[in-house]
Amino acid sequence: MSYLSARGLVRSYGRTPALRGVNVDVEEGEIVAVTGPSGCGKSTLLHCLAGILRPDAGEVSYRGQRIDTLSEGARAALRRTEFGVLFQFGQLVAELTAAENVALPLLLAGTGRREARTAALSWLDRLGVADLADQRPGEMSGGQQQRCAVARSLVTEPRVLFCDEPTGALDSLAGEQVLGHIVRLAREQRTTVVLVTHDVQVAAYGDREIMLRDGAADPTGLGTVAAQR
Ligand code: ADP
Ligand code: ADP
Repeated sequence: MSYLSARGLVRSYGRTPALRGVNVDVEEGEIVAVTGPSGCGKSTLLHCLAGILRPDAGEVSYRGQRIDTLSEGARAALRRTEFGVLFQFGQLVAELTAAENVALPLLLAGTGRREARTAALSWLDRLGVADLADQRPGEMSGGQQQRCAVARSLVTEPRVLFCDEPTGALDSLAGEQVLGHIVRLAREQRTTVVLVTHDVQVAAYGDREIMLRDGAADPTGLGTVAAQR
């Protein structure tokens, strides 16, 4: 069985179907790009894989264990300890400095203040934004904010990083820099990455591309997912 896998995932929002039987396999250490046009179900798939959303039907397994059947509390614990998430933009707490934002997941996990701050500063340094440690998000550019968000998503050293259009709000240069950092750090940490994007240039950062077509099952009934490249 794969490191992270989905079988026959079905999910609707009210009457709007988002996933209609999706199969995905992700191996440990891979950087997988999940692509497809807007509205095809990429975000919904990512939320199901990350244990944020429960599918209506189908299974999600991580390291040989079903996670879709876990309680909300158990899935929240998994997200705190094993998974990191990075969204498009605006995840930083406006009232906190960069260092405080990056330290936050560690503080929530029970790490002491001094140790959390030291780790936060180290991760800001790895993202090339150590000099912004005491600034608040409103004083930073979009690219700088997103680098801080990357630091925050990796400070707990997750085994899997889920990214949903992580550069969607950035200009192309800032986006390339952020993606370069994500890929470099993921390789260093042996982090598995699931990268959701509608942008082919962003998808090219993946080792492999999984194309999602309209959340709809293919004619074989085996699922919608076709691997490319
Ligand atoms: P219900 O489950 O009661 O039928 P929906 O799932 O349709 O409700 O909607 C849940 C929430 O998502 C609502 O706040 C709604 O405004 C919002 N929403 C509805 N349609 C969309 C959409 N296509 N994309 C994003 N959000 C939506
Ligand atoms: P993508 O990430 O590929 O743009 P999504 O997973 O966001 O696709 O959406 C898949 C489908 O589900 C779309 O038709 C979208 O409008 C609908 N949808 C997504 N979120 C909601 C929501 N909260 N409420 C209702 N419909 C939603």
